[in-house]
Amino acid sequence: TLSLSGQKVLVYGLAKSGVAALRLLRHHGAQVTALDARTEEALGDVGREVKALGASLVTGPTPPGLLASQDLVVVSPGVPLSLPEFETARKAGVAIWGEVELAARLLTDVPLFGITGTNGKSTTTALTGELFIRGGRRTFVGGNLGRPFSEAAMAPKDWDALVVELSSFQLEGIRTLRPRGAAILNLTPDHLDRYATHADYGAAKARIFQNQQGLTAQPGQNPQAGDFGVVNADDADVMGLARTAKVPVYGFSMTGKPVVDAPKLAGLAIAEEGGFRLDFLGEHYRLTNRALRGAHNAQNAMAAALLARLGGVAADAVQAGLDSYPGLPHRMESVRVLDGVEWVNDSKATNVDSVLVALRAFKGDLWLIAGGKGKGAPYAPMVDAGRGKVKGVLTIGQDADTIAKAYAGQAPVLACGTLDAAVKKAREVAKAGDTVLLSPACASYDQFKNFEDRGDTFKRLVGAL
Ligand code: ADP
Repeated sequence: TLSLSGQKVLVYGLAKSGVAALRLLRHHGAQVTALDARTEEALGDVGREVKALGASLVTGPTPPGLLASQDLVVVSPGVPLSLPEFETARKAGVAIWGEVELAARLLTDVPLFGITGTNGKSTTTALTGELFIRGGRRTFVGGNLGRPFSEAAMAPKDWDALVVELSSFQLEGIRTLRPRGAAILNLTPDHLDRYATHADYGAAKARIFQNQQGLTAQPGQNPQAGDFGVVNADDADVMGLARTAKVPVYGFSMTGKPVVDAPKLAGLAIAEEGGFRLDFLGEHYRLTNRALRGAHNAQNAMAAALLARLGGVAADAVQAGLDSYPGLPHRMESVRVLDGVEWVNDSKATNVDSVLVALRAFKGDLWLIAGGKGKGAPYAPMVDAGRGKVKGVLTIGQDADTIAKAYAGQAPVLACGTLDAAVKKAREVAKAGDTVLLSPACASYDQFKNFEDRGDTFKRLVGAL
């Protein structure tokens, strides 16, 4: 077991996960230094909490030699592990772990179900959590979404299962983290600003499989206790990553025909009219919950059901959870119907692929509000997917002109600048039967704190109409 008492540990980055790691480290008696590039004034309450917890606070640029003098550096998921100072410290013999690795070391007795992918992680994590809870497990649901994983490690005895969303940044920082069930949902261009190539990005995601163990003949071990993978059998890139798994891998598919050259799968979830089936168990599940409409949510539901069933949740509990899942805010969230116009908040759509998914889930007559801080991927696929469906585009934020160029000659573009102006404009142009969809294809940081702030602002503006 991990002994942290008296160890010199530096927490690098004081966002939510960093602060949770700091609390955990102090709980275990480590001697903690907290580092953040922001000024103490900008840190505000966080800085005060660091001190109240008995840690020392260092702000601004990293003092030379600080990292090399530690036993361990715990890195917040927002901080790139490629920083040269980490390499220097590593060479000096300092362990460098991501925040989830720290938590995982303290939770080795609880089965962990990890979920990664470009899109659908939060939905699948929340839904998988719902299925385990329905199955009567005391389940921690968090990670990249909601509660930091370190919070689970504050009370390991409280949990029968850990359902954890793992971003590629978080996976870069793992060493021993070993999921009982590991799911990769999809792999599409995102974060091209942070990864040199698509292959690098994929390699980060594939780390979710790296510590899994197959069934080595342990006398008396429950044969159900072997680790397993869950992958999107329709996604060639994901199936490529599946080859790196050393454990049985199960797939989910909209067609029942996995991509050519696929590695052998232990079983398949296959979409069918009104639901899906698990072919290796001969079980059928209904999918009629409105919070899970759209083909993308069928994929998320199949992944969640595979994790839950293979993780030991009973079939009737899985069905009950699929029926009762309430949905997450900011993901194709229906806000209001006003004079026959439906207003939908899809603020979480921070990349082009998410917008494609939303466009496919609606029949047509859409007014699309898009724009913000772009991620560098081309907008052309959005234009194609919206042909015949999008009546007009209302642009906001930094990337407005690039979006307008992509739509030139394809659909009317109304330059609005701000979300406030876009909502007012949409109110003027939308007619009964139309849908106004905020699905921005961009990050929000140019005009908002985060996508939640953008979505909440939209809901407030729409509520006030
Ligand atoms: P993440 O946590 O990976 O960002 P979310 O569940 O929050 O994923 O969903 C984000 C957006 O991604 C959704 O609003 C939707 O547009 C899109 N999305 C959700 N599930 C999928 C999927 N399985 N495949 C493709 N896109 C998806």
